[in-house]
Amino acid sequence: MVPLPARRALLAAALGPAGCRRVPRHRAPAAAAARPSSGAGGEAEEPGGATAMLRHLLLKLRATGPVTVAEYMREALTNPGQGYYTRRGGIGESGDFVTSPEISQVFGELIGIWYISEWIATGKPEAFQLVELGPGRGTLTDDILRVFNQLASLLSKCDVSIHLVEVSPKLSEIQALMLTGGKVQSDPEDKSAYMKGVSKTGIPIFWYRDIQDVPPGYSFYLAHEFFDALPIHKFQRTEKGWREVLVDIDPEVPDQLRFVLSPSSTPATENFIQPEEMRDHVEVCPEAGVIIQRLAGRIEKDGGAALVADYGHDGTKTDTFRGFRNHKLHDVLRAPGTADLTADVDFSYLRKMTQGRAATLGPIKQREFLKNMGIDLRLQVLLQNSCDGATHEQLLHSYDMLMNPKKMGDSFNFFALLPHHRLVHPDKKHKPESKSPLPPVAGFGELLLK
Ligand code: SAH
Repeated sequence: MVPLPARRALLAAALGPAGCRRVPRHRAPAAAAARPSSGAGGEAEEPGGATAMLRHLLLKLRATGPVTVAEYMREALTNPGQGYYTRRGGIGESGDFVTSPEISQVFGELIGIWYISEWIATGKPEAFQLVELGPGRGTLTDDILRVFNQLASLLSKCDVSIHLVEVSPKLSEIQALMLTGGKVQSDPEDKSAYMKGVSKTGIPIFWYRDIQDVPPGYSFYLAHEFFDALPIHKFQRTEKGWREVLVDIDPEVPDQLRFVLSPSSTPATENFIQPEEMRDHVEVCPEAGVIIQRLAGRIEKDGGAALVADYGHDGTKTDTFRGFRNHKLHDVLRAPGTADLTADVDFSYLRKMTQGRAATLGPIKQREFLKNMGIDLRLQVLLQNSCDGATHEQLLHSYDMLMNPKKMGDSFNFFALLPHHRLVHPDKKHKPESKSPLPPVAGFGELLLK
């Protein structure tokens, strides 16, 4: 365990000399608190909201009949030709939604500290992989790498590598530019990665389309606003029992889509609705379940930890499916491919899908997690050293965006997967007094890194 003063020292060392080391990020509009443009690279919408994606879907629906919401969402977001993330991926002020790492560098810095703290708590293994799912513009990994660089002496004997799981060619290009300055090799010899490069600080970076392609080994996983982008199935309770919500062509209005209910139960209804379900409307994301199963299995086998941060609930919410375009709510069925589609993450489902292979912590609110990680101390230091009034104001504004319960503070949650032995000594049952207590997990406990 790193004692408290040492933890404070770790925080100070990792965050580097107090000061404005970096140009502050843009000022996010208050309305962007969750995923609230017709940014560059977007497809022009024709009168009536028709897009190439809509035409593709209309052809498909005419040929096959209604599709599940999951199928619709998958097409709209990640279709290799016209998907939203494939072509547009509008993260940031000039795009459609803004995320915490884009708001403040402090966010990624504190997450970097979380991984270092776990690495120390598990005896400083000689190598680790940082695996980020859905890295967006690469900003979060960039901030984490800066922390690793600040702690170069601590990490000098550790073999660190970065592994990014990204389906969007457009976003992987932006990530490569951010992290390597654009010096990457496509289709490298080791077939599993589709691209590789070296970070500005000399750390190897690999890109994959699927978590299954990432090599095994002690790994720290990170999924920030990733699970909410995965396709959901939607179900509605009716007098005749549960029915799946489907997407179909509206017979009344040309080129328009509408929701319909399946005439009878679908295989998904049978599989995903629990007999004891009390809600009338339920969303399930099986793809998230499969990925969590894989992460839990990998952590059980090779060690490490996963940190998931997203907006979500613990199995209580009903209809959360929504679209964002140009920082405004957008009809999910209109102009597919030109707007981000998202649904709250059901953390109770993620917990269930670990199938006991990993221990879980959380979800806890973003403002509690960041407070436990020392955000107030970091803010004070940055404020004391801020170069000018505008920077000062920007620091306070971004802190408010991340921490205010009415903005991102309460709606975003942190959730972690850890090996069971990280929380309970394997022989605790037999010899409860024989071991020193395990170090608490930073961020989830109040007393850490303050
Ligand atoms: N983590 C970033 C970006 C969030 S947006 C941030 O917080 O700023 C969602 C990210 O997940 C994008 O990078 C998108 O291209 C990626 N993504 C969406 N579906 C994916 C899938 N099935 N597999 C891998 N990446 C996916």
